[in-house]
Amino acid sequence: MGGLRWLACDPGTQVFICAYDPITGDIYLIGSEMGAWIRTILKVIDGLKSVLSRTIDAKNAVHDAHKAWIAAKGALATLRRDPNSTLEERAELALKVDKLQIAYLNTQDNVANSPEFKDKEAEIQALYRKLQTQVKAFHQVAAGFLQAFPIVILPRFNQQMLKRGGSGPQGTDKTILTMLSHAAFYGLLCRRMASEGRRPLVPTEAFSSQACIFCGNMCKVGRAFIYKCSKCKNWWHRDANGAAMICLFVIIRGMDWLGLD
Ligand SMILES: [Zn+2]
Repeated sequence: MGGLRWLACDPGTQVFICAYDPITGDIYLIGSEMGAWIRTILKVIDGLKSVLSRTIDAKNAVHDAHKAWIAAKGALATLRRDPNSTLEERAELALKVDKLQIAYLNTQDNVANSPEFKDKEAEIQALYRKLQTQVKAFHQVAAGFLQAFPIVILPRFNQQMLKRGGSGPQGTDKTILTMLSHAAFYGLLCRRMASEGRRPLVPTEAFSSQACIFCGNMCKVGRAFIYKCSKCKNWWHRDANGAAMICLFVIIRGMDWLGLD
């Protein structure tokens, strides 16, 4: 083996960090299923949220039915005190009050007896907490792994994202990014390495980890796991390509390219 061990890391969403060890040629896919796992939990949360909104609608319906019944009861009491009111008028309103009461009790039963309308809000919060706890635990493991290497090159993820996609990620992808919290991970790694008097090295200039490692051609990668170059037809794991590209930049531009941002 020999040589100073260093890792070039490409942060991402599908694979949290892809790390390339140029001395051994090893590629480490760290958190290769984190994005997919978070996506699955977010789908469950979305389902719960739609049930929750139906629950709120149902509860509003109960509230409205109750209000209508109480209002009619009040009107009936007023009518009864009115010496000019006729028997027919009172009987008609009394019948209406009865009907409104039955309607109110029915809507209340619907909500109270349906298992669908149990407290979804608590379930949703519990799932979010679970996500955060698992990601935090994962961050510790990933930081421990990177920390074992003398030199770690880790570009800041936010800057990367801005360069890559014009408008940036949307919807669920944005939520997954927030959940993965690359910034929090970077902070954690810095703190852990600082305890040994070290820091991760960060590229000081823009670069693209999306260029083909074989020929330099820029390809649209999309969501595919395989990076297949449209020009030279070579293919590789997309994140390995990114991490190797970071390595190549270090070799071409030298260590000056790296700083302690
Ligand atoms: Zn190529």
